[in-house]
Amino acid sequence: MSADERLLEVKHLVKHYPVRKGVFGRVTGQVHAVDDVSFSIAAGETLGLVGESGCGKSTTGKAVLKLVEPTSGSIDWRGRRIDQLSATDMRPYRRELQAVFQDPYSSLNPRMRAEDIVGEPIRNFESAGRDEIRERVASLFDKVGLRLDQMIKYPYEFSGGQRQRLGIARALALRPKLIVCDEPVSALDVSVQAQVINLLMDLQSEMQLSYLFVAHDLAVVEHISHRVAVMYLGKIVELTDKRSLFANPQHPYTEALLSAVPTPDPRAKKTRIILGGDVPSPINPPAGCRFHTRCPYAFERCRVEEPLTQEVMPGHFVACHLRDSKGVS
Ligand code: SF4
Repeated sequence: MSADERLLEVKHLVKHYPVRKGVFGRVTGQVHAVDDVSFSIAAGETLGLVGESGCGKSTTGKAVLKLVEPTSGSIDWRGRRIDQLSATDMRPYRRELQAVFQDPYSSLNPRMRAEDIVGEPIRNFESAGRDEIRERVASLFDKVGLRLDQMIKYPYEFSGGQRQRLGIARALALRPKLIVCDEPVSALDVSVQAQVINLLMDLQSEMQLSYLFVAHDLAVVEHISHRVAVMYLGKIVELTDKRSLFANPQHPYTEALLSAVPTPDPRAKKTRIILGGDVPSPINPPAGCRFHTRCPYAFERCRVEEPLTQEVMPGHFVACHLRDSKGVS
């Protein structure tokens, strides 16, 4: 991807949270939520960010939206560094970066009518008149597959899938360029999940949207993403295009995650890789490769030396000693 094509560029992003104890709130450690994460997203592209819960994928999404301040690293938006901007300086960019969250019910004000929820960002960011806002809200309802008579209803009168459509309409109100979708379908029934994913894909081609799609469900990520980044304990361990990742995973953790995805063909033979042990605490991550305490291929070097991210094939990045030139030594 050339520099001109990049809409978002995240470089060496780190987010640590202090752990405080006692009545004086003394800092006794740091939660290493995100540790040296780099990726970029092009216009019209979906990057899937996957991993187990607590791996730092949602924190990464929040940092992109500037909902959390990074500890270090940089975030460039259309060639301009935004991670250090004040709230006022961030305002012109804020409208271009929107979010859709997991639980649409808790992210929608229960006391507001649907039309006011969707129209709120327009009122906050533009000097549009009442009629224009109503017209734009009606067109957004139409775009996301909601009926116009539902504009006067309250969130509790919508089903889960409809509430997520409402959340999507609100995210689209300011005609954004990138939407961070944080587990947008994991609270929905499987049949409704497919409808919402298809809606997001249709909107992408119609509006040239980019998505950072945060999810733990690999089947959903496979469906919607162009490229996929796999996170483990605050780090990206593998990043490549969807086809390479699913057909030819290079990192042992990706291999284990993929082995647990059910296949539609009952004749397809697949051996599930069961990972031993629990995910280590992000307060005290293991030395060397963070995955070594659970990796079936771990060897001496993995316990002492952190693997660097290397491009093992064009566009396919992996952080594992098995894939670098020194290999098992
Ligand atoms: Fe496993 Fe070692 Fe590779 Fe880490 S570096 S994933 S422990 S083989």
